[in-house]
Amino acid sequence: MIFCFFAYKLSLNRQKVKRTEIRQALLSEEFEKEITVMGWIRTKRASKNVVFIALNDGSVIHNLQLVADLGKIPEHVLSPMHTGAAIKATGKLVPSAGSGQRVELSVENIEMLGDANPNEYPLQPKKHSLEFLREKAHLRFRTNTFGAITRLRHAMIFAIHKFFNDKGFYNIHTPIITTSDAEGAGEMFQVTTLDLENLPKTQDAIVDYKKDFFGKPANLTVSGQLEAELAALALSKVYTFGPTFRAENSNTSRHLAEFWMIEPEVAFFDIHDNMDLAEEMLKYLIRYALEFCADDLAFLSKRLIEEEKNKKAEDRSMELIEKLNFVLESPFIRISYTEAVDILKNSNHNKKGRFVYPVESWGVDLQSEHERYLVEKHFKKPVILTDYPKDIKAFYMKLNEDGKTVRAMDVLFPGIGEIIGGSQREEDYDKLMQRMMEMHIPHQQMWWYLETRKFGTVPHAGYGLGFERLMLFMSGMNNIRDVIPFPRTPLNCEF
Ligand code: ATP
Ligand code: MN
Repeated sequence: MIFCFFAYKLSLNRQKVKRTEIRQALLSEEFEKEITVMGWIRTKRASKNVVFIALNDGSVIHNLQLVADLGKIPEHVLSPMHTGAAIKATGKLVPSAGSGQRVELSVENIEMLGDANPNEYPLQPKKHSLEFLREKAHLRFRTNTFGAITRLRHAMIFAIHKFFNDKGFYNIHTPIITTSDAEGAGEMFQVTTLDLENLPKTQDAIVDYKKDFFGKPANLTVSGQLEAELAALALSKVYTFGPTFRAENSNTSRHLAEFWMIEPEVAFFDIHDNMDLAEEMLKYLIRYALEFCADDLAFLSKRLIEEEKNKKAEDRSMELIEKLNFVLESPFIRISYTEAVDILKNSNHNKKGRFVYPVESWGVDLQSEHERYLVEKHFKKPVILTDYPKDIKAFYMKLNEDGKTVRAMDVLFPGIGEIIGGSQREEDYDKLMQRMMEMHIPHQQMWWYLETRKFGTVPHAGYGLGFERLMLFMSGMNNIRDVIPFPRTPLNCEF
């Protein structure tokens, strides 16, 4: 008997109605076939005998219009269904009488799944500011903007893996917790299990890290590069795509404390191969977005135009899709840091004091305003800057013959500034060691990194693409807090 009961329950479960995704419903030609959709109400409006509900399930930016005839569906069923409520509706798809959509659902049956009190639900069908939505990050997925960004983010993650996979790269997971502080001294988040209220001390009254979890100080990683190099010097072509943490206290619209980074690393590559790979990858990703995210990009384009309506014409950015196509069609300009400094120094912009940080001499680190000037005003194309002064770059970059510059490359994009930072790496043991000494890098700790230069060292190169910087560019959003679901920035770690 018990067995029979379970079998009966099972068969009932199997008969559970199949949900048709709104993405499929909107493309369907199968009129007269009954379907069931589920989703969240965006808007509801009533005319004399019918109620119209715009339903969204996140599968696509568009809503499905539900048409409920008050002759068929009682008023008391529909009246508690407000914006934000989750509902389930069954009916037939019919060609739409109204403009704006091809099909609509003629409702036979409608049911509340989860209501939303209209006096409390924060996302009313009106325009909310991006700042307001950041405070409602738990619900902002339900807006057109964040739906579009979330789908675009997914497409870009997928396309990045596809790009590298198709080229024969191997993805590797580099550690998130690290005890090497070679790269990010001062910018790292410490990881500890010590009791901060009651720290164990050595005889010299300093913190006794032997008692910490790893027996020494540990941090969250600022980059997977050093470990990726180890793998590249065996597998030739590898890439990482992982979370990265930087405790830099820069409250800008381009920096997060937690972001995602893509870091290819390739043996037998020089800096020119590295630049070719970066340009090819960025163009591949743009092409992918244009092909597979057309609806979301069209929405984001309209959003940007709307947002910039009140700006002066010369301050407006290029229309989003035009901008993507423009970058796709432009060969990236490749010039040295030295040439770039000359251009900046002699620019009218500099002479008239329009830079916050005037460019006076060779050796200065370039600010985002300088990078954007080169891209947006001077060349009007993406730019790859190479051969930076060694003093403003990391210890592992290959020293040029001039002894002053290193084989670094930064890719600069309109509206963003630096989107990629990379280099050819120093493969010579002695030169690398010397740079480490000069820059006070704790080389004993880095014995494992140095050993790769002792055993079968070869030229190699790689770069880091900040995933959220890429998302800024692809989406036309202005603030990096709006292209990651849950941004972490100084004093902000809600959700
Ligand atoms: P920036 O000069 O813009 O602060 P960086 O030179 O410190 O960047 P790299 O160490 O070269 O950055 O990191 C590689 C890439 O990671 C950068 O080109 C950028 O796309 C991204 N990136 C770096 N820092 C951040 C951050 N705090 N938030 C988001 N992305 C970042
Ligand atoms: Mn950089």
